[in-house]
Amino acid sequence: MQFIEALKLKSKLLFLFILTTLALISVAVMGNMHINSMKNNIDSLYFGSLVPVTELNDIMQTYHNGLASTVYKASRLEISPSQVSSQIESSLKQISKKWKNYESHFKRNDELEYVEYAGHEIKAINEYFLRIYRVAKKGRDLSNISINTLEKKVFFIHNVIQKLINYEVDVAKYERKTFLHSYAESKFHIGVVLSVIIFIVLLISTYVFKSIQKDQTDLEISTKKLRKANKKLENVSYTDTLTNLHNRRYFNLVYDRELKRARRKNNYITFMMLDIDYFKQYNDTYGHIEGDFALKSVSKVLKEILKRPSDFVFRLGGEEFGVLLVDTDESNSAKLARDICDGIRERKLIHENSKVSDYVTISIGVVCCIADDALNDEVLISRADEMLYEAKESGRDRYIITSNASAARPRVVEEMTA
Ligand code: GH3
Ligand code: MG
Ligand code: MG
Repeated sequence: MQFIEALKLKSKLLFLFILTTLALISVAVMGNMHINSMKNNIDSLYFGSLVPVTELNDIMQTYHNGLASTVYKASRLEISPSQVSSQIESSLKQISKKWKNYESHFKRNDELEYVEYAGHEIKAINEYFLRIYRVAKKGRDLSNISINTLEKKVFFIHNVIQKLINYEVDVAKYERKTFLHSYAESKFHIGVVLSVIIFIVLLISTYVFKSIQKDQTDLEISTKKLRKANKKLENVSYTDTLTNLHNRRYFNLVYDRELKRARRKNNYITFMMLDIDYFKQYNDTYGHIEGDFALKSVSKVLKEILKRPSDFVFRLGGEEFGVLLVDTDESNSAKLARDICDGIRERKLIHENSKVSDYVTISIGVVCCIADDALNDEVLISRADEMLYEAKESGRDRYIITSNASAARPRVVEEMTA
């Protein structure tokens, strides 16, 4: 059964189909053979015994009713000689036709000798009736015919034919017995063969089904693993390895999606652009590794402050971060920006070469507006960038927020300084 395991699902189903078809064909062929042999047996009973018995019976009846009774009536002058001759003629014709038919049927060897003898006796008695026929044909009356001789001859041929009938009936009985026996035997054989076929088909089918089921389970497990791996891969491809924040790739995806959603619902959308102040100096002073550590600390603060599932924090590149908020109005957006600036400063990461603080600080440009169809994809980012520039220009460690996402120059809503 190893080869079944090796087959592909399609081939397994094809194999099952062929197996079932072959089983059905063999059942049909066997059933047909059984019915055919029964038909042959019944035919041989019918043509071998029943028909010959009927023919012999007809011959016997013709001797009694067609010939003997005619001659008897003729002896009593009840019918005319011409009637006698025509009756005898037609009866003899009938007898010889029936006898020919009877002889033509299949005869067993042990039967042949007696049939020959009976044929001889029939010929002899027919000669006797032919003589009477000739007399009647000449128009002579048959009143002096010996009834005794007639009765003896008819009685004799009756016995000869009866013996043949008895023989045929015995053969029929014997054949019926043999037929019933062979029927029971072949029924048993067919039953055994069919049971074996059904058993084998069921056994192989069960095996194939189990194998298909195993394939199915394996496939489900592989699909689950693949899905998990894909999810992992997707997460990896959307995550910044240093900070574990979402990366720029993910930003591109989410930004587009959230902006469309906000536009549909006419909701608030907020975008913040964040940039660490004097970070070049920080790296120069403390080295790149400390710089990376500072980036991680800033990310932690961002994650702590922006906790809602709908708050998105991205590392857009270098020491620049992006924050996307939905359904957050201007005052709440401003509060969050303020909290971020405070939170980073209060982290107290020493930055002795910063011109604005003793610690690492951050500047933020914020755009918060109600999204409508007029809101362009690009403008939100460029306006946040402009606000960030303003924040840097006006002294750093602060945020600048605007609600105007379309004006050429920003209209400052709120400005926060340390
Ligand atoms: P500003 O206040 O105007 O932003 O001054 P800045 O020094 O921060 O100026 P800028 O934004 O141009 O400096 C970016 C610096 O950030 C340059 C580089 O040394 C540093 N930087 C960028 N990416 C990384 C990083 O992955 N790790 C570390 N340690 N430093 C980085
Ligand atoms: Mg920068
Ligand atoms: Mg910077």
